[in-house]
Amino acid sequence: MGVNAWLSLGSNQGDRLRNLREAIARLHSEQVQVVRCASVYETEPVGYDTPQPMYLNTVVQVRTSLPPMDLLEYVMAVEQAGGRVRTHYGNPRTIDIDIVLYEGVQMQSERLTIPHPRMYGRAFVLVPLLEVSPDLTLPDGTPIRLLLEQPEVRAQKIWKLPDANLSL
Ligand code: ADP
Ligand code: MG
Repeated sequence: MGVNAWLSLGSNQGDRLRNLREAIARLHSEQVQVVRCASVYETEPVGYDTPQPMYLNTVVQVRTSLPPMDLLEYVMAVEQAGGRVRTHYGNPRTIDIDIVLYEGVQMQSERLTIPHPRMYGRAFVLVPLLEVSPDLTLPDGTPIRLLLEQPEVRAQKIWKLPDANLSL
């Protein structure tokens, strides 16, 4: 039952691995089943003006009965439960959860854009995304794997953590 969606999780504050684990446990529920977790990757922060601590990132595939806006509210509640404080952009955060893709949905509103507008050039999203779903495509049919071939994406440094298993 339910529709497939892919969520990107990141943490660069506190016990980062624990923050990811707790968020995944909180996501998993009646309405959101976590079906696959990628490995954990340590990544250099992308897109900030000021130096930032390194991130741990992963992607989970979920099956959900929640429509996109409800899923956004849900993941924001999980961020809050994980101690996320929304200050100004670029501050470290205990947990960030973004909706990367939602099967069959392409939308752009003030609060929610799917596919996530900044996924296309980010190795920390694309690499774990392909690990859980190697044949995934964008809504227009473009294979996600092609996005990773862009030189500016290949230049980004990310390291797989060998011993961090997120499975529930
Ligand atoms: P970041 O862009 O670093 O993830 P935030 O987590 O603070 O920053 O998100 C800012 C806003 O992005 C959220 O309030 C949310 O409404 C909006 N947003 C738009 N599209 C998405 C999406 N696909 N997934 C998650 N948030 C989204
Ligand atoms: Mg976010």
